[in-house]
Amino acid sequence: MAEGKGDIEALIGQIARLPGLGPRSARRIVLYLIRKRAGQMAQLASLMGAVAENSRECLVCGNITESDICAICHDPTRATGEICVVTDVADLWALERGRAFRGRYHVLGGSLSALDEIGPEDLHIPQLIQRIADERISEVILALAATVEGQTTAHYIAEALAGSDVAVTGLAQGVPIGGELDYLDDGTITAALRARRKLQ
Ligand SMILES: [Zn+2]
Repeated sequence: MAEGKGDIEALIGQIARLPGLGPRSARRIVLYLIRKRAGQMAQLASLMGAVAENSRECLVCGNITESDICAICHDPTRATGEICVVTDVADLWALERGRAFRGRYHVLGGSLSALDEIGPEDLHIPQLIQRIADERISEVILALAATVEGQTTAHYIAEALAGSDVAVTGLAQGVPIGGELDYLDDGTITAALRARRKLQ
């Protein structure tokens, strides 16, 4: 790499690897930031440092937070009897945008997959089963993707809870096959949640 442009090229390279971006937008962003380096760029750099240092998983639900327990788990106004189970933090954030759900969440951190050798112990499934017992949960809403992996995971959890008092529900049909919650608009998420169906 030519002397004098090493860091700038490296920054463009890093930004180009971010989701939804490529080399062309990365160059535009870096040029923009350099022109705003005293203000926006300095703020961005300091925020990135702070978030890298302080962000972690909520010890209860797996949401991304800056303290041990996230704001949702801390919120006394949220219903305690319902847990909405999601694959990823992005799905939790999508559901929160819709403001349709007022209970608590549980982030699995992935889907069961025989192909990728991802079993229940690799996800936060044992913690979910434990929470359902400890927190006297009456309803578990499985807001999992309509993909093969998402549905395999939903069936596994429903099976694991068979025989217990807890109601297991799933999002209504209408969530597109293979669609992940984060890509849906807020109205669709809200409708799918309101019209949820009983799985067991
Ligand atoms: Zn939490």
